[in-house]
Amino acid sequence: RITWVVFNIAIALLLMELDVFEGLEHTLSLFSLITLAWVGALVADLSVCKPLGWSPPGIEFKRAHLPDVNLVGLTSMITAVIVSGMAHLGIFGPLAGAFSALIALICSFAVTIGIAALVRGRHYMARPASNIQHGSDSCCICENTFEPEDMAQCPVYAGTICSLCCSLDSRCLDACKPGHRLIDQLETLAHRCLPGAWPIKIRLRILRFLGICTVISAIVGLILWTIYTQASLSIPEAGAEPLKISFMRLFWALLVLSGFSAIWLTLSHEANQLAHEETARQTQRLLDEIRRHQKTDGKLKQAQRQADRANQAKTRFVGGISHEIRAPLHSIIGYAHLLVKAADIPVHRREYLESIEHNGKYLSALVDDIIDISSIESGKITLQVGDFQLLTLVGQLASDFRPRARAKGLFFRLRILDTLPEASRGDERRIRQILINLVSNALKFTRTGGIEITLRYRSSVAQFEVRDTGPGIPAHEQDNIFLPFYRALSEGNAALGSGLGLTISKLLAQVMGGELSLESTVDDGSCFRLRLFLPQPFRHGVEAPATSSKITGYTGNPRRIMIVDDAPAHRQLLRAILESHGFHVTEASSGLACINAVATQTFDLILIDWMMPDMRGDAAVSQLRRQGLGIPIIGHSACVYPIDRARMLDAGCDGFIAKPLNVDELLDTLKVQLGLEWLSDEPPPQPQAAPPQDTHPITLEGISPEVIDLLRSQAEVGDIRALRRELDRIAPLYPAHQPAIDRLQELAREFQLRDLQWILEERPGNREPDDHILAHSDRNQRPQT
Ligand code: ADP
Repeated sequence: RITWVVFNIAIALLLMELDVFEGLEHTLSLFSLITLAWVGALVADLSVCKPLGWSPPGIEFKRAHLPDVNLVGLTSMITAVIVSGMAHLGIFGPLAGAFSALIALICSFAVTIGIAALVRGRHYMARPASNIQHGSDSCCICENTFEPEDMAQCPVYAGTICSLCCSLDSRCLDACKPGHRLIDQLETLAHRCLPGAWPIKIRLRILRFLGICTVISAIVGLILWTIYTQASLSIPEAGAEPLKISFMRLFWALLVLSGFSAIWLTLSHEANQLAHEETARQTQRLLDEIRRHQKTDGKLKQAQRQADRANQAKTRFVGGISHEIRAPLHSIIGYAHLLVKAADIPVHRREYLESIEHNGKYLSALVDDIIDISSIESGKITLQVGDFQLLTLVGQLASDFRPRARAKGLFFRLRILDTLPEASRGDERRIRQILINLVSNALKFTRTGGIEITLRYRSSVAQFEVRDTGPGIPAHEQDNIFLPFYRALSEGNAALGSGLGLTISKLLAQVMGGELSLESTVDDGSCFRLRLFLPQPFRHGVEAPATSSKITGYTGNPRRIMIVDDAPAHRQLLRAILESHGFHVTEASSGLACINAVATQTFDLILIDWMMPDMRGDAAVSQLRRQGLGIPIIGHSACVYPIDRARMLDAGCDGFIAKPLNVDELLDTLKVQLGLEWLSDEPPPQPQAAPPQDTHPITLEGISPEVIDLLRSQAEVGDIRALRRELDRIAPLYPAHQPAIDRLQELAREFQLRDLQWILEERPGNREPDDHILAHSDRNQRPQT
């Protein structure tokens, strides 16, 4: 349409520029023949062919559904233009010349009906009408929504396309209407008109050349004829003939030029088409590639969804199992704790109870670790940030590992190279977990030499280095050892451990915003470096934790606590612990009972379970808070996932205590929530004291060698009971050695036979010279060795 407009304007401009208004009449009358031929074909189609069913019903505008050339219309138009043109030129006489316009109209009308009757609907449509629902789809290119009449199905873009995008797209090469494109129609014509022996490419080239050449020649001829007509009007009839001859020569000369232009246009069209086809082929390959990627992506997403579902199921399973283990552990640890404290339990039975409590706590820690792994894997780990002393942390680590290193014949050094803050803020338990893993590994893999822990602290960044003189890790293994379940296979290490420790350590370091890195050289040893941001708290100093066994009560009026739990055994246990610390206790077996009790009595604090049959803990707490209850409420449950804690806190709880019960944690929480001051039968520990094992090494110097030999032989055969009896016996005889005897008792209680043997074997002078702590004795001085 644009071409049509431009073409018409160009003709009008040309005529005006040539000042050929007088020739306009001739030109326009010729032009009107073409227009009338077109109108005649149109009227014949609409008024005769369609009603008779010789052309398809309805009017189709979509380029995607129409053949490039309508053979019926084109043939009738060309016939009508030729016949009426001849009439116009006076070939059929002056009468026919006067009625040439009417001849054009009637001729095209008649020829259209005639051809339509012959072809009976063929050649009108390129493809059957597509069934596009109203408003059902948008264009797959411009993404706008159109009426269905303006949309077509596009096989190249595999979607619906609007008429405008369809018209503007050139890369599809009209793949939607094979057999009805100009090239296909030319091919048909080539097959029919030119010798079959010639290659189809040549035949097409000839046809294209002839077509282009004809069009150019016709245009040139028309222009020259118009100019000649105009010029011949102004000269006498005698001069018209030479002018005509000159114009004819000019036309033949231009015809040669037109031929060259036609060749050039034909070849460049072929080159364009080749480039186009190549582009289309490459695009198709890319589209195929994209389709394959989309397919893979879909499968990946599906696999990920399945993995997520499996992970959630596993998390639920671990959560459920841990709940089932924690609930009975809660009773075991709690009652063991009460029995250890009971005065009427004989001493030798108390050992068994301590062992039960110790192992119960160990099991509880194990369940915690399983929950940890599950939480890290599902990305739901939460940190328990608090204030702690770095010096105490590394001191305890050193005192735990030094005896084991010595037992292996290794040196163990702790070097603190900067002034440490009085307190740091961070998750002490997680930091300890990482350091224990690193030092355990160093101890496990080092056979000669030793281990050195170095601690630096600058600008709130703590850097721990655990260096060993072990076998080292080859460069190609250094990244792998942080992968889950990976164990370096060198030197028969494969059997040692599960291969999860470093994975968890690295993840934990990252979760805490730090990093864990490794430097290692084979045969020289390894150095794991942990860097963490551990700022100093606003409130300086770390409070000594409550140690339940020493607390006898609290100052002030007795406080009333309500325990809400559906398990009678759990209520009984909590009642026993709380009453032994001077609290008044009321029990409720359900959330509803709790709400009723609060309506009639007053309490200072409520300790409420979460999983209860009639009304869950969080629902009860929400209701109590809605009623305006302002006293502290502490959630208490064996469901310990961060999400479970969050639910209780969201419902209105002021704190959360996990089952199995940690009595120290319970007392700490009560202290904070009720503002209590504990009464204790022992003086509180010095908060800033350096670890006793480091500053006051155990010395048995002065105790009779016979006694030490006896203790050592008892440790060697593992007769712990006899060893503890002997220690009890010698305690009053050696009051100056009380700290050493207490430490031995502690080790015996924990069945640390190797450490016991090592201490009992130690004699003055057998200590390695490099086996010591390098620490600040004075916080205000530079480090000293
Ligand atoms: P594991 O529980 O098996 O020790 P880790 O994840 O802690 O698991 O360690 C993974 C592997 O890294 C170990 O199997 C060992 O091969 C290697 N590795 C870790 N620490 C050291 C070290 N200090 N010296 C040599 N190899 C080490």
